Amino acid sequence: MLQLIKTTGLLLITAGVISLILYFDSMAPISIGLIAAGAAVTAAAALAAKRDLPVPCRLGFHRYDHTGYDEEMRSMRIYKCRRCTKVKKAVLGGG
Ligand SMILES: [Zn+2]
Repeated sequence: MLQLIKTTGLLLITAGVISLILYFDSMAPISIGLIAAGAAVTAAAALAAKRDLPVPCRLGFHRYDHTGYDEEMRSMRIYKCRRCTKVKKAVLGGG
């Protein structure tokens, strides 16, 4: 259900952007309305999804700190979010 709401939000944003590009003169206010509505729907879905997380993390803005390296793949860096402790792995520097 939440995924459906998120998809709807993205569709609204996409439709708004496309109509803004194609029909700027006649559609601009409607397009901007669509984009705003889509962004609001997407944000609302994100906020509803993870109630126990800090707001920036719920919206996908994590604050990662580099905490170490993967034990099996030494070139794999491990990052941990300072606020919600979400862990992310990434290969950087081509090593
Ligand atoms: Zn986080």
